Amino acid sequence: LLGSVTLGNRFARELAELSIHWRALEVPEPRMLMLNDLLAAELGLDPTFLRSADGVEFLVGNQVPNGATPVAQAYAGHQFGAYVPRLGDGRALLLGELVDVHGRVRDLHLKGSGRTPFARGGDGLAALGPMLREYLVSEAMHALRIPTTRSLATVATGRPVYRETALPGAVLARVAASHLRVGSFQYARSTGDLELLRRLADHAMDRHYPGAAEADEPYLALFEAIVAAQASLVADWMLVGFVHGVMNTDNMTISGETIDYGPCAFMEAFDPATVFSSIDYAGRYAYGNQPFVAEWNLARLAETLLPLLHDDEEQAVSIAGEALGRFRPSYSAAWSRGMRAKLGLPASAHGEVTSALVEDLIQMLQESRVDYTMLFRQLGAAARGDAEPARCLFLDLARIDDWMQRWRAFVPDPELMDRTNPVYIPRNHLVEEALTAATAGDLRPFEQLLEAVTSPYDERPGLERYAAPAPEDFGRYQTFCGT
Ligand code: AMP
Ligand code: MG
Ligand code: MG
Repeated sequence: LLGSVTLGNRFARELAELSIHWRALEVPEPRMLMLNDLLAAELGLDPTFLRSADGVEFLVGNQVPNGATPVAQAYAGHQFGAYVPRLGDGRALLLGELVDVHGRVRDLHLKGSGRTPFARGGDGLAALGPMLREYLVSEAMHALRIPTTRSLATVATGRPVYRETALPGAVLARVAASHLRVGSFQYARSTGDLELLRRLADHAMDRHYPGAAEADEPYLALFEAIVAAQASLVADWMLVGFVHGVMNTDNMTISGETIDYGPCAFMEAFDPATVFSSIDYAGRYAYGNQPFVAEWNLARLAETLLPLLHDDEEQAVSIAGEALGRFRPSYSAAWSRGMRAKLGLPASAHGEVTSALVEDLIQMLQESRVDYTMLFRQLGAAARGDAEPARCLFLDLARIDDWMQRWRAFVPDPELMDRTNPVYIPRNHLVEEALTAATAGDLRPFEQLLEAVTSPYDERPGLERYAAPAPEDFGRYQTFCGT
């Protein structure tokens, strides 16, 4: 049955300098925890096979289909602003490429599959909690229509992983449009081999932005397309209150998909300074900084591309700078468009009046520390005539009353609001509760939470606790990298 799975090795062949052939660490007792049946079907993989003994062996890398060439990918990256010339897949492998039922090429990748030559001090392993966390949050993001890597399966390894305590280990099978990162370009450029850099850029163009190849200046068009994709992605994050938490350049994709669900979390009370990561002391990756960090990362990408943009460096810098200058307007347009939809305003209602409406609301949200997700659903009720639940979330009632009057003048569309504003997001206290239970062997809370957040707009009776903010005694939430 494994013979029916075909994995391409285009990355391994075309970019051999960026890969090391490698095999996963043998998993003693693989046991399926979560399988994404819908995604499996989309990939043309039979869920019954994936659940079989051979299928599970395949999903942890114990068995590799004929012709596949698993590799650890090389990349560099700026971590919290400091350049590290050699990062790479320390505990991950690219198994190969699949063509899905829509004809799209997708990477199949393992995370937690053992040490590679890029492991440095790490053990190459992953604990079950964090691999289920990535499964849950990435699938929630997909359901929120935000471009993201997907999760095909989480498989328990039966091998303990030593963190502060011994934890059960797991491998995540991840699916992505590709695993090319800003850090891949930084690594290629640092070799000084411009033909390698060109091959990487051509590969990225062919996989993600084929239109750029037809442009007069294909490499400039490639960069512009990446800038546009990232502006739109980060606006999507901001609109749902997602804090990525570790926007290092090695964690920013070329495809425009969200990647690396390590210390990410969703903001509850609105505050641009929101930070969850235990190691982000300076708040570099705070909620409100994300657009600026994305732009900074794109500037690092631009630096790697300079030799492809023009023979004269000064000219190349000016070309890249102009393209990078489109990030801000592009981001602002995506954010404003998204905010108008969240407020139920027609697409035609843009201009100074709606901008002021959005700005005033954001100010009030911050002053009253309103739960960001809940507020927009309550405004949906307000658009249907029941203003009290939204109104009572604010401290300054006169101000919110005035705001609502201005907003209602636009005749907001409650149906558009309900299609745009989620009821259920992966709230931190619920995620922790589900992962604690899963680590102790009970997957039911995880499955229930997954079901809530993968149909996020559809309010269902009985799921009230999934729509409510954390209780006061949950306290300040902290997340961790590399667990
Ligand atoms: P991240 O912060 O998750 O983006 O990871 C940064 C780098 O650390 C990447 O090169 C990872 O492959 C590597 N890494 C993280 N955790 C481990 C681990 N447990 N073992 C080996 N490498 C790791
Ligand atoms: Mg990473
Ligand atoms: Mg990570």
